[in-house]
Amino acid sequence: MTIQKATNITWHEGDVTRKDREKVHGHRGATVWLTGLSGSGKSTIARRAEQMLTARGCFCYVLDGDNVRHGLNKDLGFSPEDRTQNIRRIGEVAKLFTDAGAVTITAFISPYREDRDSVRAIMEKGDFVEVLVTAPLDVCEQRDPKGLYKKARAGEIKEFTGISAPYEEPEHCELTLQTDQLDVDGCAEAIIAHLEEQGYLPRG
Ligand code: ADP
Repeated sequence: MTIQKATNITWHEGDVTRKDREKVHGHRGATVWLTGLSGSGKSTIARRAEQMLTARGCFCYVLDGDNVRHGLNKDLGFSPEDRTQNIRRIGEVAKLFTDAGAVTITAFISPYREDRDSVRAIMEKGDFVEVLVTAPLDVCEQRDPKGLYKKARAGEIKEFTGISAPYEEPEHCELTLQTDQLDVDGCAEAIIAHLEEQGYLPRG
C-alpha cells in the first residue's frame, strides 16, 4: 500500500468542471482498461480503437506499457511490488485523463486482480471499463510480437507473465475480446459499440 506522505494538502476544483469539458468534447470521459497476456493484442487494439475514435472527433488517448516504463515508471521493474506500483501510478494518470474528458485506453498486462480492482476503486462510478483481451497462451506465444516469450522460455527473462509469473483473469469485466476469434477491427469496433450502448459516446 502507498502511504500518504504529505499533510496539509487540499484537492482544488477548478472553475471549469468535468461536465464543461465533456460538453466541449461531445462525450464523456472514461478509462477503457485492457488487460491480458503479452501478445494477446492489447496495444494493437488500443491503437486501432484510438484511430477509429479520433477519426470521428473523439478526444482519445492511449497509455501503453513500455512507453510509461520509459518515463513515469522508469524506476520500476517486474517484481510483484513493482508491478503493483506500476499499475497504481497508471491508474492515477488514467483517472486524471478521464477527468480531462478523454476516452483513455490503457494497454498493460496488469496481471493482478487486486491491482485492477484498486484502480476501479479510485475512479468515479462507471469510469472504469475493464476489458479482458484474451487468446490461448500458445497463440500469444506463437505471435510473440516482441520476442519476449522466446527469451522467457530461454530463461533470459525472469517473472514473465503466463510462463513464470501468474495472470489472474477478471471475474466481472465489462467486455471480453477473444483475439483468436475476432480480428483487430472487430475488437476495436466491439469496444466502441460497448461505449455507445452504455451511453459514453453518442452513436456514430
Ligand atoms: P500486447 O499489447 O497484448 O502485448 P500486441 O498488440 O503488442 O499485444 O501484439 C499482438 C499481436 O497479435 C500483433 O502482432 C497483432 O497483429 C496480432 N493479432 C492477431 N490478431 C489480433 C487481434 N484480433 N487483436 C489484436 N492483435 C492481433
